[in-house]
Amino acid sequence: MAGEMVAFLQELVRIPTVNPPGENYRECAEFIGGRLLEFGYDIAYIEATSRPEHTPRHPRVNVLGTLRDTPARPRLHFNGHFDVVPVGDGWTVDPFSGIVRDGKIFGRGTTDQKAGIAASIYAVEALRRADVRLRGNVEQSGTVDEESGGFAGMAYLAEHGYVNRDRTDYVIITEPLEVDRVCLGHRGVYWFEVETRGRIAHGSMPFFGVSAITKMSNFIEAIEHELKPAIGGRLTSMPVEPPGARYPSININSISGGQPAGGIQTPCVADRCHAIFDRRFLMEEPIEQVRAEIRDVLDKIARKDSDFQYQIKDLMTVQPVLTDAKSTLVTTMAASIRDVLGSEPPLIASPGTYDQKHVMRLGFVEQCIAYGPGILHLSHQPDEYCRVDHLVEGSKAMALAAMRLLGAE
Ligand SMILES: [Zn+2]
Repeated sequence: MAGEMVAFLQELVRIPTVNPPGENYRECAEFIGGRLLEFGYDIAYIEATSRPEHTPRHPRVNVLGTLRDTPARPRLHFNGHFDVVPVGDGWTVDPFSGIVRDGKIFGRGTTDQKAGIAASIYAVEALRRADVRLRGNVEQSGTVDEESGGFAGMAYLAEHGYVNRDRTDYVIITEPLEVDRVCLGHRGVYWFEVETRGRIAHGSMPFFGVSAITKMSNFIEAIEHELKPAIGGRLTSMPVEPPGARYPSININSISGGQPAGGIQTPCVADRCHAIFDRRFLMEEPIEQVRAEIRDVLDKIARKDSDFQYQIKDLMTVQPVLTDAKSTLVTTMAASIRDVLGSEPPLIASPGTYDQKHVMRLGFVEQCIAYGPGILHLSHQPDEYCRVDHLVEGSKAMALAAMRLLGAE
């Protein structure tokens, strides 16, 4: 079935589901739904109607297939997101042609992560064509907006009970964490915005004003010289790859202050500066502590400098998640990969976040992993591709795992 699976993936890649803004979601959901219907599933299209990003121009349409004629439990749910990030520069092939060359399928979203969707759908179909009768149920979902947080996608399915411990036993998210590894979870995320306030004055006499940009730089220096050394020695027990991400991190995502850089400038002391920060945290760091440490840095500056005025606003918090390495899902998936590839798969955790948080925190499903055939570092890059042999191997490992998790006759 490899040829058929590759052709399906090519068709998927030719639907440019670029996010933002979320193009062609309905078309893609219906394409996946059509194939699932052919392969013996009942289909539901779940539109995230209560979300503000669900608009007539860009509807947020998810697809859920439930395999017919099988016992309801245990239930294994395969999930993949079908949104892709914008193309960007540097491509040498058409990013939406799905061209196959040298055993690789090229295109935006091949690795991340339409290959994963193809692999799981054809894994279960292979069992069906081989007359393997599963003693449990399989669901397959294609969801939107993972790249922008997944709120209209997996979060919506979990909040509305489609993916929930009351009906779902195991979830495999087919993200590209490499065909020979199992990903158990991810670190936490705390995004926040800091605004510093100054006092406007003529730029030729800056001593009559207070520069908000200088105040922001005081905060950034304190992050570099106080916060980073204080948190940098914390090493997580999570098996994060690459190992450099086993420590807490903080990144300045953006900064703006004073007059807009593109416009005509008049000489003024900047009275406002904004910056957005991205703090990644470990299982071992409670979010309350992570927040308090940032506020302590700000307060310490304010105590020494009466001109230091600031506001801090939380933008997003994602709790870290990690599925037990000894759980049935992890040991079964690992054994299945070993039987297909002949080597012991490393159990890893991801430095960045993906939809597992929604499955575990909103759907309360305890056994959730990421496993998929793409090549992690090619995600979001020009000339993104997935190797055909990885697609086939990943699909075989998923088929074996489904048989073993659900039982078969
Ligand atoms: Zn992805």
